[in-house]
Amino acid sequence: MARILRLVRLLLTLLPAAPLLGGAAPPNTHVALSEPAPSRGWLWPLEPRPAVVRAFDPPAQPWLSGHRGIDLAGGPNQAVVAPHDGVIAFAGWVVDRPVLTVDHAGGLRSSFEPAETDLTVGTRISRGQRIGRIAAAPLHCGTTCLHWGVRQHDDYVSPLRFVADTRPSVLLPWRDP
Ligand SMILES: [Zn+2]
Repeated sequence: MARILRLVRLLLTLLPAAPLLGGAAPPNTHVALSEPAPSRGWLWPLEPRPAVVRAFDPPAQPWLSGHRGIDLAGGPNQAVVAPHDGVIAFAGWVVDRPVLTVDHAGGLRSSFEPAETDLTVGTRISRGQRIGRIAAAPLHCGTTCLHWGVRQHDDYVSPLRFVADTRPSVLLPWRDP
């Protein structure tokens, strides 16, 4: 008898939790993780290959103004594609625009803005995967665009180094062993 009572008490403590577990949508279930293409090259973060509407123009000194990335022509809600494998490092608002940041191997970090995502920080992503979308925030370009910045450790580098075939290549993200 005591055993049955314990069982009933156990069931009663478990039951209220069930609707809570069922109500919370599991994050990122719509993301299909695919194997990365067998290439060490980077992809453009927009498809088809976008026009570069503003070039990389790093400041002479870190505290001066400049353009620490490239601006790519694109429309609101257009999909942002992962240029390479990585992990979502940041997804949130910075001042007046949503920013999406991805850590890649080799101390490389891509930042996209204005870009929104449903992915959470720490999510592993694969090269070519749709990771977000361009948000409507036309303040940076005058029209809608995607700003793409790449940092290697603390230095901003031109994203074109990774997607454009400009031989001789001076900076490779990493080498195959
Ligand atoms: Zn820009």
